[in-house]
Amino acid sequence: MPELPEVETIANGVDRRVRDDTIVSAWFSNFKEPFKTPPTEMAAALAGRRIARVYRVGKHIVVALTAKSAHPRSARAANQTPASTQLIVHLGMTGRLLVSAAAVPLAPHTHAVLSLASGRELRFVDPRRFGRLALHTTGAFTGPGSEPLTISLDDFVALFRGRKLSIKAALLNQSLLHGVGNIYADESLFRAGIRPTRIAGRLTRARLARLHKALRTVLQSAIRAGGSSVSDYVDADGEAGFFQIQHRVYAREGQPCLVCGTPIRRIVLAGRGTHFCPHCQT
Ligand SMILES: [Zn+2]
Repeated sequence: MPELPEVETIANGVDRRVRDDTIVSAWFSNFKEPFKTPPTEMAAALAGRRIARVYRVGKHIVVALTAKSAHPRSARAANQTPASTQLIVHLGMTGRLLVSAAAVPLAPHTHAVLSLASGRELRFVDPRRFGRLALHTTGAFTGPGSEPLTISLDDFVALFRGRKLSIKAALLNQSLLHGVGNIYADESLFRAGIRPTRIAGRLTRARLARLHKALRTVLQSAIRAGGSSVSDYVDADGEAGFFQIQHRVYAREGQPCLVCGTPIRRIVLAGRGTHFCPHCQT
């Protein structure tokens, strides 16, 4: 499953290619699962809108659209109107968002095609159909939790106050922080020296401050590397574009800790494989 850095990379890649382009028409497949908003409703709402910006919120890709302009006289006003309609894309397990020339044949499992005025197409491809497309029309889409890259230290500390669950489970809880997945939870806890089983509400402010910093460092270095997914994600050109940042604990069970040489341990916590150094993380 793509994590925050992969989604950020994809959103940025799509933004570079389709910003300011206009959606001429939209086509959707006959499958039900990928669409939280009925396809006929989406097609009617999307046609004629200009793409103002594509960006990431949590693990969602937000395609912000300008208001429709019925005739030239209102075009200037439309440009000044904040985006009122957003297409929200969640990639699920295997979803991909591709920008292609219209002449390029559709990949198998293509579920949405937005034809653009430039002659290109924004396509959503998802073999396993866990991905979702939806329209959001009630203000800016924010998602349920806080944004791990921009949350202040005070707000970060407050998130965990009184929480009786493990810090690993708390990091994965999307209603607290959105977009932090399994790999980056394990990697940031290692860098902060915190054992994943520690109760979140009992961690000192100093330890949470280390985690706050580690989480941002890990996510930002992964974004710089283009996302660290080991799987088959592709960027907006359809290229296999991701480099793996060096994982220090994730998927390294039994291998020596890069700091102290102690074998990395794997346990299951919050239903997820969890990796840590029993010496460095206390
Ligand atoms: Zn160690």
